[in-house]
Amino acid sequence: MTSEFEIIERYFKKKIKQTALGIGDDAAMINVQKNHQLVISSDMLIENIHFLKNTNPSHLGWKSLAVNLSDIAAMGSKPKWATLSISLPKINHVWLKKFTEGFFKCANQFGIDLIGGDTTRGPLSISITIMGEIKKNQGLLRSGAKINDDIWVTGQLGLASMGLASLKGKLKLAPRLKIKCLKALEVPAPKISLGSHLSRYANSCIDISDGLIQDLNHILKASKVGATLFLNDIPCEKFIHTSEQYHFVLNGGDDYELLFTAPKKNRSNIKKIAKKTNTSVNIIGAITHKKDLKILNEQGKSVTFNLRGFDHFA
Ligand code: ADP
Ligand code: MG
Repeated sequence: MTSEFEIIERYFKKKIKQTALGIGDDAAMINVQKNHQLVISSDMLIENIHFLKNTNPSHLGWKSLAVNLSDIAAMGSKPKWATLSISLPKINHVWLKKFTEGFFKCANQFGIDLIGGDTTRGPLSISITIMGEIKKNQGLLRSGAKINDDIWVTGQLGLASMGLASLKGKLKLAPRLKIKCLKALEVPAPKISLGSHLSRYANSCIDISDGLIQDLNHILKASKVGATLFLNDIPCEKFIHTSEQYHFVLNGGDDYELLFTAPKKNRSNIKKIAKKTNTSVNIIGAITHKKDLKILNEQGKSVTFNLRGFDHFA
């Protein structure tokens, strides 16, 4: 019989690089740099709600951490430490090996120490708390958007929700596009390096996890402004335009791209840091004085859309 403690030793305790005290005591201890603030966020992933049963465990390990990293990126911060609380229906060594392989692949790529957590028996669920550092008062908030700011997004929207629809048999995709969409769904790439450079140039930022419209609305509400979006400028697959299935892009979710707003004068600097960090960025609209959200098509006509993104209790 393997004990809880053997599981922790074998799978979760790895070399730490930037932590005063890691796994093994009653609590971890970290040193925060002078004149910096700690940035903290938690996300839970529950089987059958956030991921399908039998999801590739290595992908799940990656994604559990990546979705948390995305929140830290959206604050303009650099992530450093994570805790992992996991409940497992039983001890399955093959599953644990693969899960932790994916988790630590992501952790190593982005320089994260796993510094603690909890391991219990129960329905499969994963809860991660991520911590990062940022120079004092440099955090990128939802409330900072200013009238006439450009609205930018990273990457391409809609891929993950297309992937999910295809797994559920609700959408038929060409084989190559399906592979791309499943990769976006299961192994999202958090935009850490761009995010950690943004606080100099952007006024506000959020990560798109519940759909473009819903997450943009969080910025609009917090900043007390409105926005106009240009449907044709939203970076997405050609398939979306030809099939006019814009809901994948507008209400999809699980994108984990960054949406940020910035003064027009910062365009060239933003393009520079995007190039330096190898991140694609596009301007998709502007912040307006009028407190509503308009989406214009190619002809400049306002299109109607569903305001709702993903909401657990809706
Ligand atoms: P306690 O009983 O004091 O809560 P635990 O036995 O739960 O301690 O945990 C022992 C050590 O292992 C602690 O440092 C804890 O943070 C760490 N730990 C437990 N589970 C995990 C996990 N899933 N991932 C990382 N660290 C873990
Ligand atoms: Mg415990």
